[in-house]
Amino acid sequence: MRCLICEDKLLDDTLDVGEHPVSSFLRDDPTAPEARVALALGQCGRCGVIQLRQPVSYEKLVPPAFIAAREPEEHLDEVVEKILETFELGPESIVAGLTYKDDTTLERFERKGVKRTWRAHLSDFEIDNPAANIETVQIRTTPERMAAVAAKYGQADLLIVRHISEHTEDPAAFMQGLAALVKPGGLLMLEIPDCTKNLTLRDYCMIWEEHSLYLTPATYEMLPPLGGFESQYIDVHPLPFENCLVQIARKTGAPRTPTPSDAAASEIGLLGDYARGFAPACADLRRQLESMREKHGKIALFGAGHLACAFVNFMGVADLIEFVADDTPEKQGRYLPGSDLLIAPSSNLLTEGIAVCLLALSISNEDKVIARNQAFVDAGGRFLSIFRASTRSIFDADYPT
Ligand SMILES: [Zn+2]
Repeated sequence: MRCLICEDKLLDDTLDVGEHPVSSFLRDDPTAPEARVALALGQCGRCGVIQLRQPVSYEKLVPPAFIAAREPEEHLDEVVEKILETFELGPESIVAGLTYKDDTTLERFERKGVKRTWRAHLSDFEIDNPAANIETVQIRTTPERMAAVAAKYGQADLLIVRHISEHTEDPAAFMQGLAALVKPGGLLMLEIPDCTKNLTLRDYCMIWEEHSLYLTPATYEMLPPLGGFESQYIDVHPLPFENCLVQIARKTGAPRTPTPSDAAASEIGLLGDYARGFAPACADLRRQLESMREKHGKIALFGAGHLACAFVNFMGVADLIEFVADDTPEKQGRYLPGSDLLIAPSSNLLTEGIAVCLLALSISNEDKVIARNQAFVDAGGRFLSIFRASTRSIFDADYPT
């Protein structure tokens, strides 16, 4: 296999978590067959980028109904402030966005006096299925199509592109597509989740069929050159779950293959370590859940999203879990992909006599969910988290069980 970024060879180190159904395809019949995709990570021996050995084609990822992803926003005021302080952007500058994820950043620029803004629409990507979005936009962001979009709205002085570059099947074509939307000498703001914490803490819920690239601050620098951009700075915005990496790059020339930095090269081998920790982590988790069931009673999960799917399916623990609590009405009465775990309202934590509930939603939401389910806690129920980075982590041996 070849690296998606620099086309060099991937190392032999592989983390193969198996073939799994797409997490957005909730099941109506838990006995019906499901389409599966192979999920294996590799790492480039030259640029150090960790990636899916075979990215999943966007056609397999279009969800049955559109679900807006909620990306972190708490750092955006600071991001906008710094861009305005660092670079020359006046009231006549054009600030643009690629997807709906960029709307709230555009609004912040507008509030700061930027008058000329635009954002690409799904029709600009020739998308007419209302359920399709990020997974399809990434492959349709090609230089030719984006040149037409730029001709329609005007090339940007600053283009905002949040939480999509880690989804790209062809990062070079995508970055060249972005370049077509930006004026020569113009700026690009890229934002992605930071995989450092998951890789070093060995949290395997990081792996997701929708993410082709698993970047760190060091390997993130490989993206801009693919579109002829030069990195200006990368800021790490700390968050309890995954940090946000914001990179500003300037369009300076022709697309080129990136030269890995020493920092990127020093991460070669990181995937090998992560991969070697997988089987022991699965065994530890099974032991922990079995002893918890024995000592305390029944275990449920909270949150029927891709993180719960990863936890249950990659770690192979569906048989130790009763059901998945989720208060989204459209999900209730259906089953978690890859399993026969029913999705039910959180009130069932009490009625089903659950002893331990494992939170499988973003760590930043844990306190909120616990507060909403105080009755469960008052009745002696215990909340833990599936994530290594949480202070309530099930993997944390010091947590009272
Ligand atoms: Zn590479």
